[in-house]
Amino acid sequence: VLHNRLVELKGNVRVHCRIRPLLPSDEEFDGQASRDSSAPAGEVHAVDDETVLVRWDRPAHRSIHKTYSFERVYGPAESQQVVFADVCPLLTSLLDGYSVCILAYGQTGYGKSYTVLGPLSKDERGDLGIVPRAAGELFRLISENPSRSLKVDVSIVEVYNNDILDLLAKERHPAVSGPQREAPMTKATKREVLPPTREPVRSAEDFVALAAGSLQFRAWLATRVHARSSRSHLIITATLTAAPASGSPTDGQSLGPRLQGRPVGGRASPGSPGAPRVEEQVHAKLQLVDLAGSECAGVSGVTGAALRETSFINRSLAALADVLGALAEHRDHIPYRNSQLTRFLQDVLGGDAKLLVILCVSPCRKHVAETLRCLGFGAQAR
Ligand code: ADP
Repeated sequence: VLHNRLVELKGNVRVHCRIRPLLPSDEEFDGQASRDSSAPAGEVHAVDDETVLVRWDRPAHRSIHKTYSFERVYGPAESQQVVFADVCPLLTSLLDGYSVCILAYGQTGYGKSYTVLGPLSKDERGDLGIVPRAAGELFRLISENPSRSLKVDVSIVEVYNNDILDLLAKERHPAVSGPQREAPMTKATKREVLPPTREPVRSAEDFVALAAGSLQFRAWLATRVHARSSRSHLIITATLTAAPASGSPTDGQSLGPRLQGRPVGGRASPGSPGAPRVEEQVHAKLQLVDLAGSECAGVSGVTGAALRETSFINRSLAALADVLGALAEHRDHIPYRNSQLTRFLQDVLGGDAKLLVILCVSPCRKHVAETLRCLGFGAQAR
């Protein structure tokens, strides 16, 4: 029944929560933790498809029994297909001209990358995540409406500390092909962030191949710039543009209500070198975001580069929480400019853009405190 559930998009912000299954690497997988009396006795359950129950019985502290409601809660057995079924209506909105942002939030190891990306190459096991499924659906929808003549450009960046790392800059930055050289970093100053490379894609296969290639590059960068990819935010942006037929005036009918009339940002893509393509109009933008792990609440005992990373992640996730909180309260001032992350997502947060936050949590009793923090973040965004 759930597979075919069509979700009515009510407001512009939806929060879903996904509880990942226990994995062989989890202590509780073989029941070990339940025999260990010093382990905190926590439980995280999907009570129904909109409610999570967290129970935390703490010796010498008050027990916590709390329920949280979200637009959708996925228990550990829910498939990637079921998660994507709830994403699908957003792609229809995208074609209708609404920008869309899908954010995966949670601690490292709780299923953000699995949910957003899944395996992108044939060597990886598991079921496809949102990116390849969304790419397929996007091009299916475009082919159903040939009259709109929409083009898709993709950019893929990491936000690491205060820098934007352009993961598609490989071709345009021969400097990065040798390991002795610098990584392609767009220095983000308060004044200017250079727009990242935009690569035209003509099919879902092109899209997925581009994402897979950029993730290999990300892994390479991880050895040069930061130790683990979970310390950076990954943002995949698909920009849909409506190109007018040559010689005809711009087809204003097909433009997105939010981005109507804006010239396309970004440098000229390799397909069209030279002057910016001012004749193109942005129809809508899709941003798919695998956020850095949210586990970095404390900085005690951390020094040097790790301390810098941790404080940037803390600050950017706090800035994101502030933006979502301000949007939820319909405040006049939305503090987008407090972090590189929120600046980068500004077009797809707020206005009539649609936002889906997927909270990824662990079923492990050991991680119940972090799960409560994550659910608290989600509750604030609604
Ligand atoms: P994160 O991106 O949050 O750090 P990952 O997505 O890498 O976490 O997930 C950690 C591990 O858990 C991976 O091995 C992944 O395959 C597995 N995993 C996460 N969610 C699921 C799920 N719903 N079903 C099966 N395996 C999962």
